[in-house]
Amino acid sequence: MVSRWEDTLRQAGCPDADFDARELYRFVTGRDPRFDDGPTPAEAARLDELTARRAAREPLQYILGEWEFMGIPLTVGPGVLCPRPDSEVVCETAIELLAGVPSPAVLDLCAGTGCLGLGVCRFVPGAQVTCVEKSPAALGYLRRNVQGRGVQAVEADAFGYYRQLPANSLDVLISNPPYLTAAEMGALMPETAKEPAMALDGGKDGLAFYRLITEKYRDAVRPGGWLVLEIGCAQAAQVLALGKANGWRNGQCRKDYGGNDRVVFFQK
Ligand code: GLN
Repeated sequence: MVSRWEDTLRQAGCPDADFDARELYRFVTGRDPRFDDGPTPAEAARLDELTARRAAREPLQYILGEWEFMGIPLTVGPGVLCPRPDSEVVCETAIELLAGVPSPAVLDLCAGTGCLGLGVCRFVPGAQVTCVEKSPAALGYLRRNVQGRGVQAVEADAFGYYRQLPANSLDVLISNPPYLTAAEMGALMPETAKEPAMALDGGKDGLAFYRLITEKYRDAVRPGGWLVLEIGCAQAAQVLALGKANGWRNGQCRKDYGGNDRVVFFQK
């Protein structure tokens, strides 16, 4: 039922042409293409239009305007990093570490859509979650996503925000900071190039935010509390070393469901 649009996407080099074509079909018609008689002419015209946008390598998530993370539907669009399935293991790690902690205080730094903080809030009863974001464009999505979900959104720059935090006040700091290297920023997939550079660019060696967070945010975490960081798949050793050098203990790395190193966490 979707072959015409799937072919267009495949010819444009889209990596998951079949999946994307089905998602667009569902989005436009509200029906499952596998059990459907076909689109109306109006639906087909709309599918042509959205398929052309995807063929121009606009992220699928931006076209749909909504994407699920940890079972939570989130508003997404130009100006904010799309939540990725890779990040779920980061969220799950924090949730595990918080088991049994009553009303834990959690900070999600460089929150973007808020996916990590919202995931923690949903699965840790009583969690007090604050999401911090600097980009005005991303904040618009963040504010919408936290609405009615008991999470606070704050506009602030991670490079100064630690000064506002009381010492020993956090049970967990969780973050998916920008972590791409200058070389990686120069070779982005066409979709990723349409996402905000501010959410991706981790400085020349990709480690600028790990230096900041391991050094400046240690005071804010309570003794025994945790720092949970998403990392690029080649950064585990470097981030573990940075944490150790800044006095964090029990550093560990975990892989995502694609088998790549994806999360490094430490205890204070
Ligand atoms: N995982 C993202 C990518 O592959 C990078 C996200 C980030 O820098 N935090 O492009």
